[in-house]
Amino acid sequence: TQSTFIELWKRGTIYKATRPNNYDWVSGTTIADAEIQYQDIPTKLVYMKFKIRDSSKEIIIASTRPELLCACQTVIVNPDDQRYSDVVGKKITVPVINREVTIRTHHSAQMEFGSGAVMVCSYGDQNDVALFREMKLEEIVAIGTNGLMTEAAGKYAGLKVKQARNQIIEELQNAGVLDKVEDITHRTPVSERSKIPIEIIPMEEYYVRQVDSIEKIRDMGQKIQFYPDMHKQILMNWLDSISIDWPISRRRFYGTEIPIWYCSNCAEPHVPEPGKYYKPWAQKAPFEKCTKCDSKEFVGETRTFDTWMDSSVSPLFISKYNKDSEFFKKTYPATLRPQAKDIVRTWLYYTILRCEQLTGASPWSEAWIMGYGLDEKGMKMSKSKGNAVDPLPIIEKFGA
Ligand SMILES: [Zn+2]
Repeated sequence: TQSTFIELWKRGTIYKATRPNNYDWVSGTTIADAEIQYQDIPTKLVYMKFKIRDSSKEIIIASTRPELLCACQTVIVNPDDQRYSDVVGKKITVPVINREVTIRTHHSAQMEFGSGAVMVCSYGDQNDVALFREMKLEEIVAIGTNGLMTEAAGKYAGLKVKQARNQIIEELQNAGVLDKVEDITHRTPVSERSKIPIEIIPMEEYYVRQVDSIEKIRDMGQKIQFYPDMHKQILMNWLDSISIDWPISRRRFYGTEIPIWYCSNCAEPHVPEPGKYYKPWAQKAPFEKCTKCDSKEFVGETRTFDTWMDSSVSPLFISKYNKDSEFFKKTYPATLRPQAKDIVRTWLYYTILRCEQLTGASPWSEAWIMGYGLDEKGMKMSKSKGNAVDPLPIIEKFGA
């Protein structure tokens, strides 16, 4: 894992950026889109009154995230929405927070959804992230990495998200700017591991470029024979949905260490030579001096890799890539990837991506995608759900 990371680092396939990321505050780490599941969670849809400056008009805006009012930087309406053509460009007051923002037009505001007006906050969802970037809005970080409201939330600072939400609904009510509250179920992105709703928080992380490779991976995927054939579509749908590069650094203790040391003086990252296993948090830096400022002091990286950075090079590991070129020539690409259906967008996809980047070739010609054992309700049997049965007595009685 470390050697292939160093190889890609030298080729410029890996870079560092501060971006709004999916953040699991229970596990305390950034996670990739591939580690997110969607769950229907009961929540409140809150209809709030926003007053327009120098006008008796107000706009009702519905949101499931009123606690993000403090991070609202604009209100958008659809450019074709006749109801608002006379107020575009005007100032509107964010209720409770009493800060004015400008009403703008954007095609992502749906006329038929509620009043057709949408508050844009940093960050309710990925559409907010895209809008902040596109409209060059200044981001306000309302929720911290501990899952609590930040100073930006004023008197709600330090509260958990749900507590802040309930108190703000009460304050909206008391201030006479609450229109109504509806109980709904909302399709909510949750972390695969901790099962809590993720937050979108700006963090500095390392990324592997993947957006540039999607067409190449699609061609390779088309040439792989899937058994059964229909499961190829899982890969194709996933490729259609990828919009950002792959964040690979994790703030977890157990994992493969990221082999980087930073200059103590100028913070320049230094990557060692491949071929050894490195623990930068515990070991002395294997460099004489900083290549940029000549300082002799270094600090080791403490983060680890996304676990799929390891498993995505398994075809290279078994074929002794960069260790035994004779053996590698005879055994790579492999023939078959046998695996389960739920990790097509992770193990299968990341393996094609990484192997293509390193070797230019597809890791295998065939993929065998297995189904699941289901319980009486049609749900997948799993350890965490506790709905699995011991297969042996059943096989004995009924056959395999
Ligand atoms: Zn330096």
